[in-house]
Amino acid sequence: MTGSATLQPVIVGAGPAGVRAAQTLVAHGLRPVVIDEAGRSGGQIYRRPPANFQRSPKTLYGFEAARATAVHAALDGLADRIDYRPDSLVWNAQGGLLDVLHGRSRTTRSVPYRQLIVATGATDRVLPVPGWTLPGVYTLGGAQVALKFQGCAIGRRVVFMGSGPLLYLVAYQYAKAGVDVAAVLDTARFADQWAAAPAMLSQPAVFLKGLYYVGWLRARGVLMHGGVRPLRVLGDARASAICWHDGTREQTLECDAVGFGHALRSETQLADLLGCRFAFEPLQRAHLPERDGAGRSSVDGVYLAGDGAGIMGADAAEWAGERAALALLADHGVPVDAARARALERRLGKLVTFRRGLERAFPFPEDWAAHASDELVVCRCENVTAGELRRTVQDCGADEMNRLKALSRVGMGRCQGRMCGVAAAEILAHATGQPVQQVGRLRGQAPIKPIPIQLVSAEGAGA
Ligand SMILES: Cc1cc2nc3c(=O)[nH]c(=O)nc-3n(C[C@H](O)[C@H](O)[C@H](O)COP(=O)(O)OP(=O)(O)OC[C@H]3O[C@@H](n4cnc5c(N)ncnc54)[C@H](O)[C@@H]3O)c2cc1C
Repeated sequence: MTGSATLQPVIVGAGPAGVRAAQTLVAHGLRPVVIDEAGRSGGQIYRRPPANFQRSPKTLYGFEAARATAVHAALDGLADRIDYRPDSLVWNAQGGLLDVLHGRSRTTRSVPYRQLIVATGATDRVLPVPGWTLPGVYTLGGAQVALKFQGCAIGRRVVFMGSGPLLYLVAYQYAKAGVDVAAVLDTARFADQWAAAPAMLSQPAVFLKGLYYVGWLRARGVLMHGGVRPLRVLGDARASAICWHDGTREQTLECDAVGFGHALRSETQLADLLGCRFAFEPLQRAHLPERDGAGRSSVDGVYLAGDGAGIMGADAAEWAGERAALALLADHGVPVDAARARALERRLGKLVTFRRGLERAFPFPEDWAAHASDELVVCRCENVTAGELRRTVQDCGADEMNRLKALSRVGMGRCQGRMCGVAAAEILAHATGQPVQQVGRLRGQAPIKPIPIQLVSAEGAGA
């Protein structure tokens, strides 16, 4: 048995999953290191504005105000019992060391770990549309971050487009903040959403919140279309209109900003660098790190929790964070409450029905690649178009993602495929006639997020 005094767990991520994991470890007498690139804890959903901003939790988080306050209070309450390192980006992992960039001091240092909980959350899943690189076009998550973190709107007259629960939530938050929401354009059909209702009723409170957002927008006369195919964002210097197909004809609407996205994708790069085994998860249409019901990865000592290992939402992230911490403790001989561990797993298991319902309500637009024109920019870091990807397939025989990257530079820029990887895989699958799971996934490379180049060159020079 390893006594708890010898355990020095590290948690990456101070969102709901990381916070509950930290709380659980502290409750068992440990002092974990908690690393987060954000300046304040809370993660994405409970993102906190800068300390000098004065907005009430109700204004910032709406129905989630109580949960947000509870998660914030949980980490704040641990202040002297954890080693909390905000503004700290983990950009590499190898040989039992995490390379961490401290954003304010611009210094990098190595943090050793033997037990690690990865709770790195998610980002937007992006399916580009012509014109998406124009100023004034943001992802849905980006649009929400602007509002939540800085109290800024992305425009005065905004169209939200794509699919997923965030579409309606962000539109509601913008309209409530006084922005003119010109339209909500959903690629899913309203019939999909009704068909999914029985499964989504397995989480009645969440389902009702969704209905409330839609009803609220409708009551205020916001234009809402389902079953659309986004065609292009128009504009010269910045977005000035949006054009879509509504099933019978093309429509155009003036706006000065667009928020778009198709649900979320897990931030799996760190799990990848850590050597975790991945498998294709059809429900999420993504390669995800494997984990057991308790959050154990395929690598000893590495645990996975929250949206970073599969999108399950904020409540699930809290439960998974606690469950992963209990697994870590139990694996090292620390007595834990087994009944509590089982109850958490049961709760997490029950969410699968709801998750299936969400996928049915907001299905991935599987015909996206077939409609993507050759001129469409897929990778904006390296300016790689859909046509160049198709030519790489035809001329060089690329049939796998890493080969496609090597030959076309897709995913080789600053985002390392975090933004373009999903779309590139769809184009590759369509061009080669393979199911998307067979084209594989981009291998993780350090740095997993952009860092100043002089830091890497200084390391390389042994500085
Ligand atoms: C932009 C965005 C907006 C969202 N808004 C909502 C919403 O309004 N309502 C809702 O129900 N759900 C929302 N979601 C989903 C919701 O945020 C998640 O379900 C929930 O936050 C998951 O919790 P988590 O702890 O797993 O991850 P997160 O809350 O995402 O926390 C992960 C944390 O890890 C940190 N991190 C990630 N990588 C690194 C690294 N390499 N080094 C250091 N730190 C790192 C991040 O800074 C972050 O604080 C949103 C998701 C996104 C991406």
